[in-house]
Amino acid sequence: MVLDTSGSGKTPVRTIITFLGTAAANAFPEAFCSCRNCAQARIAGGRSFRKRSAALINEDLLIDLGPDIMAASQIHGRPLDQVRYCLQTHPHADHLDLSHLLSRSPAYGVVNAPVLEFYASPETLQRAAQTFERDLAGFSLLSSEAEKQLNLSVHQIQPFEPFKMGPYTVMAFPANHAPGLGAMLYAIETNRRAIFYGTDTGPLFEETWQVFRKRKMRFDVMILDHTYGPEQAGSDHLCAQQVIEHANRMRAEGILDERAHVFATHIAHEGNPSHGELEAFAKGKGYEVAYDGLVVQV
Ligand SMILES: [Zn+2]
Ligand SMILES: [Zn+2]
Ligand SMILES: [Zn+2]
Repeated sequence: MVLDTSGSGKTPVRTIITFLGTAAANAFPEAFCSCRNCAQARIAGGRSFRKRSAALINEDLLIDLGPDIMAASQIHGRPLDQVRYCLQTHPHADHLDLSHLLSRSPAYGVVNAPVLEFYASPETLQRAAQTFERDLAGFSLLSSEAEKQLNLSVHQIQPFEPFKMGPYTVMAFPANHAPGLGAMLYAIETNRRAIFYGTDTGPLFEETWQVFRKRKMRFDVMILDHTYGPEQAGSDHLCAQQVIEHANRMRAEGILDERAHVFATHIAHEGNPSHGELEAFAKGKGYEVAYDGLVVQV
């Protein structure tokens, strides 16, 4: 697979990205917190209110079965009833709420939902299967009973192995995050447009950059972890300065052209100001700040 959109010409079919959530693990404002950033966000409202990170591609592809997707669907007017595919980044609780699998099942009164094709690493699936069986149901997520009762089809994926998923060609990359949990980042190509969903992660591994180069991958939209703010250092998440460095390197290496967009997501209340102030910081630094409900057409 070559995620190469250069010279693709004009295509009438567009790919639509909806940011369902753009906060780090503890939402923004954090309900229990009275720090300057949370207080400022409460006054600003609107784009400064961030739910836990998830995204919808077109109407049928969900990235992360996150804890706030029900609220996001209601607030942003995006029904998830056409969702056929879910790419799960990792099993951390701010990205995976397994109760949604029960909630969307026929036993809970949901009608006409398509079979959900659920993709994740073996490590993420193992962890999810344990949690599901222990806390939510008397059967394993990886059993045929689960597939039947939950209207679900589970797929194990490996990094760097491209696969087809309906109209999408996908490649997973190992995230620099949560060692042992098989955390993944995703390159998604459809309609001759390519998107990279890059959270949660620290600095991308050199192997990832090599694969970008070797396969001549080009992205129209690059979405990056921005957990830590302008005055902070990164760790197993990126900080503002590292987002700037990644965007610069991607442009220098031709992974992004001058029309490509870089969006920050997974934004924590510790160290990041409210939306308007963060947007002002990012201006002229090569990236934009996503917000909940943002719709991007590529
Ligand atoms: Zn997270
Ligand atoms: Zn706070
Ligand atoms: Zn995480």
